Formats: sequence, structure tokens, C-alpha cells
Amino acid sequence: KSLEAIFNETETSTLAFLQQYGFSKKVIHLFFKPFFSGIFLEPNLETSSRMFQFVYKMFGEGLAAIPASGMGAISKQLETRLSNTTFHFNTPVKQVKEGKILLENQSFLDSDFTIIATDAHPLMPNLKNQQLAWNSCDSLYFLTSQKVITKPLIGLVSDENALINNIFYPTTFSKEMNKGKDVLSVTIVKEHGLPPKALIQKTKDELRIHFNIKDSIFLKHYRITNALPRLSNLKNDIEPSETKLTATIFLAGDTMLNGSLNAAMLSGERAAEGVIATVNSETSA
Ligand SMILES: Cc1cc2nc3c(=O)[nH]c(=O)nc-3n(C[C@H](O)[C@H](O)[C@H](O)COP(=O)(O)OP(=O)(O)OC[C@H]3O[C@@H](n4cnc5c(N)ncnc54)[C@H](O)[C@@H]3O)c2cc1C
Repeated sequence: KSLEAIFNETETSTLAFLQQYGFSKKVIHLFFKPFFSGIFLEPNLETSSRMFQFVYKMFGEGLAAIPASGMGAISKQLETRLSNTTFHFNTPVKQVKEGKILLENQSFLDSDFTIIATDAHPLMPNLKNQQLAWNSCDSLYFLTSQKVITKPLIGLVSDENALINNIFYPTTFSKEMNKGKDVLSVTIVKEHGLPPKALIQKTKDELRIHFNIKDSIFLKHYRITNALPRLSNLKNDIEPSETKLTATIFLAGDTMLNGSLNAAMLSGERAAEGVIATVNSETSA
């Protein structure tokens, strides 16, 4: 099925799609629910059936991979290829106005055109009452002395009462770096309301119960509150003109289309095309 066909289909929840497709309760419970919950970062497969089909297609056409030095390597690679660009890292923006960007530190940046490449609602006064909802997750890292999964596979937990969604051993850390131990990554996608200390203890307990891992040493916990935007009417692409919010402010980012890197990159390209078209129309007028 083409991407165009997938994103033109009637949207249901992923769970309803799987049930209507005829998959058994058993395969949904043992495979689809835990596996796709770990991708959509929500436990009930409420995410759009378009997203399910898109991700399924991507898994069929390519390999699942992460850069050896982590996801940050992707933006670093882009950065090294931009020789005429100035980056302002760690510079939170408070508000975007026509021709100006107001920073949290109260200073202004002048701007001919601005592309907002994140959720624009908090940054534009006229969008502030249309907040976006987000799926959240917790990533916890432990050291363990023995791998319970030796192949490059993800360990899924299908038990509905469990907090852990999946575990995996990142292969990019050598044992020598960690005193002969392996790094174990654990993902939690359910809402739990636990303070960090209780969450770590519960995770260690579940590692013992579900994987027989008895010696986990806690390393690090990341709470990702705005992990994936909760979107409906998912799209694969947009016209450059659709990224134009005002005369000089354009929008990009996954929230414009669907929660994926593909969408983030494509929407960025479309917003850039939108700016170029505006500049061209102004210079030819
Ligand atoms: C755990 C996890 C796993 C994922 N796995 C995959 C995967 O395997 N494949 C895939 O395709 N997608 C995956 N995704 C989704 C993917 O990461 C996102 O869809 C993508 O990163 C969105 O890119 P973006 O540029 O639109 O937004 P972001 O990557 O969120 O970038 C927006 C940037 O704007 C900055 N920002 C926000 N507000 C402000 C402000 N006020 N001032 C200044 N800066 C600001 C943020 O700090 C951030 O750096 C995953 C997401 C998560 C959380």
C-alpha cells in the first residue's frame, strides 16, 4: 500500500483496526499491544490506524536502527554540513512575533522569516488556548551482570498489570566501559503517578518477576513528558503554502503531520519551500 493510500484511509484507533482486520485476541495481546505501545508510547493502542500502517510499512521496507553514538548524532551531522548558519543552543524562546523572536531572557532576535519547528501553541498568543496533548514515557537504565536476551531483540511484557513495556540491551556500550556489566534500557509507557524513587524500585521488582533479573543496578531515569504529540487526521505531506501561519511565520515539525522523524524532516522541507515561495513572490512583485 502506498503512503498516499495509507494517509487517505478512514482513521480509526489502531486497536479497532487490528480487531476489524481479524487478528486474534491472543496475537493482539501478546504481540501487537506491547510492541506498538512501545512505539506509540501509550498503552491502549488509541493511536491512529494510519500511524500503525505507516510504521508497519517502514518496518517492512527498512531496518530498525539507531546511530552508534545516540540520536543526537543525526542533528550533529546536519549541523556540520551547515557552514553559513548560526546556532543559539540552550536559548528558550518565549514568544514569536512578526519579524521578532522574544527570548526567555527578555532579549529579542530580529527575523525576516521565522519557522517554528516545535509545537507553536505556547509561542503564539493567538494559539495559546489550543493546547496540544502529548504521550509521555519513562526511560530507565540499569547495569546487569548477565544478559537475559543475547540476540539483538526487544523483550516485551504483555502482562496488562505490569508497568514495564519493554527492555533491551543497547549494543553500543562496551562491557569494558561498565566494569564488565551490560547496560539495560527499560521503557515504561503507562501513567503511574509514582515519584522517581518508587518507580525505580517498582521497575527493579518487575525486572525480577518478568525477566529473572535480580541484580539490576540503577543508572539513570529520564521522564519524557512531551514524547509524542497526540494527533488526529494524520497526514503524510502538506503543501508549502499550508505551513504559512502569518506573513512571515511558518510552521514545521512532527506535530504538523505525524509523530515521526520522517514527518519532522518533510515538514521542515515544506516550510523552507513556503518561505522561498514567499520571498520569490515578493521580489517578483
Ligand atoms: C522515545 C522515543 C522514540 C522515538 N522513536 C522514533 C523512531 O524510531 N522513529 C521515528 O521516526 N520517530 C521516533 N520518535 C519520534 C521522533 O523523535 C519525533 O517525531 C521527532 O523527533 C520530532 O522532531 P521535531 O523536529 O518535529 O521535534 P523535536 O525533536 O521535539 O524538536 C523540537 C525542538 O524544539 C525545541 N524547543 C521546543 N520549545 C522551545 C522553545 N520555547 N524555545 C527553544 N527551543 C524549543 C526542543 O527543545 C527541541 O529540541 C521517537 C520519539 C520518542 C520520544
